[in-house]
Amino acid sequence: MLSAQQQLTDRPWLDPDATPQIVIESVTKTFGGFSAVDGVTLKIFKGEMFALVGASGCGKTTLLRMLAGFATPTGGRIMIEGVDMTAVPPHQRPVNMMFQSYALFPHMTVGENVGYGLRRLALARAVRSQRVQEALDMVQLGALAKRKPHQLSGGQRQRVALARALIRRPKVLLLDEPLSALDKKLREQTQFELMNIQSQVGITFVFVTHDQDEAMALSTRIAVMNRGQVVQVGTPSEIYEFPQSRFVADFIGTTNLFEGTVNATQPGHIVVRSTEAGCDLIVDETGRFGSGQRVWVALRPEKIRLSKQPLGGDRVNQMKGTVWELGYLGNRSTYRIKTETGKLVTVFAQNERRTSEWSIDWSDEVYLSWTANCAVLLPQ
Ligand code: ATP
Repeated sequence: MLSAQQQLTDRPWLDPDATPQIVIESVTKTFGGFSAVDGVTLKIFKGEMFALVGASGCGKTTLLRMLAGFATPTGGRIMIEGVDMTAVPPHQRPVNMMFQSYALFPHMTVGENVGYGLRRLALARAVRSQRVQEALDMVQLGALAKRKPHQLSGGQRQRVALARALIRRPKVLLLDEPLSALDKKLREQTQFELMNIQSQVGITFVFVTHDQDEAMALSTRIAVMNRGQVVQVGTPSEIYEFPQSRFVADFIGTTNLFEGTVNATQPGHIVVRSTEAGCDLIVDETGRFGSGQRVWVALRPEKIRLSKQPLGGDRVNQMKGTVWELGYLGNRSTYRIKTETGKLVTVFAQNERRTSEWSIDWSDEVYLSWTANCAVLLPQ
C-alpha cells in the first residue's frame, strides 16, 4: 500500500500543490473557418508519459505541432516550465519531436544520424562522439553505429530516431505515432523498451497514437480527443473503467451499450428500465442521475459471464440469447450473442481450457449475467 505522499509523488495530477511542467491553456487552432483544435486545456507533469488519442483528424498532431512550435495557436497559450512559448521558435524550446516516419538520412551512418541532433550546438569533437555513444547505448545500438539505416530492422530504425531525439536532452519529447511503422509483435516489444528508456531518462513524453492498446500500455494518463476538443483525461484504468461519455466508452476498447430510462434511484445504485436489454439493469452509482432520465448503460464484454444454466433470482442484469458468432483468438474467445430482444451483445471469455473441452458453441442457448458494479451509466 502506497503512502498518501508517495501516491501524490507518483500521481502529481492529484496534488493540488504540484506545478505542471506543461500548461496548455484554452488553445485553439483554426484553418480558414475550421477549428482543428478547439479550446484545449491540459496540464502535464514532469516525467509523465502522456498520450493524445482520438479518431483520425481530431487534432492530435496539430496540438503536438503547436507544442513543438511548428504551428502557432490561433488563440490561447502554451507554457513550459512557467515560460510562455508563443514567441519561442522550435529550436529554442526545451522540447524535441520524433516524427512518424523517423526521417533518418539514408546516406549517413547510424552514429551520424544520431549526432545530427547536436548540429546546432558548438561541441568539441570528443564531447560530440561521447554524447552519440551514450545515446546509442541508451537504446542498445552501441554496436551498430557504423551501419546505414537500410541495414537495420524497423525496430532498430525507430530506436535510432529516438536516440537522435534524446541526444539534445530535451525536457519534453514529443512523439508522433512512435511505433506505427512496426509490426504488431515488434510494437509490443518496443513499447516496453520505450517505457524503460523513458523511466531511465526521466524526460516527459507526450505522444500521439491512434492505437488504443498502445496508449493503455504506455501512458500515465490519456487525453481522449474528439473534433478538436479534449473530452476526457485520465489514467488508462479511469478511461477504461469509468468513461464519462458514450463517445469515450465506444472509442476505447469494446463496449456494449443499452439504451434505457432511470426507473428508480436507491441508495448506492440506480435501476434502469431498458426495452433494448429486455430486463432491468442495476448499476452501482449515486447522485448524477434522476428518475425519468434517458441514459446509456455501458458494459464491457469481459465483465459478462456466460452460462448454459438458467440463472435464478429476479430478471435483473441477466439476459437469455443464442450464440450468433464465435471467434477463437487463442487465449480468449469472442462471442456475439443474439438476445431475446434481437440485440447483439459481445462477450469475451478467457480460454482456460482447450477448445475441444470448451462447452459453449455456435447456436447454443446461453444466459448472460453480470454484477451491478460492472456497468457504467452514461448520460444521453
Ligand atoms: P491523424 O490521426 O489522421 O494523423 P490527427 O488527429 O493528428 O489525425 P490533425 O493532423 O491534427 O489530426 O488534423 C486535424 C484537422 O485539421 C484535420 O481535419 C486536418 O485535415 C486539418 N488540418 C491539419 N493541418 C491543416 C492545414 N495545414 N491546413 C488545413 N487543414 C489542416
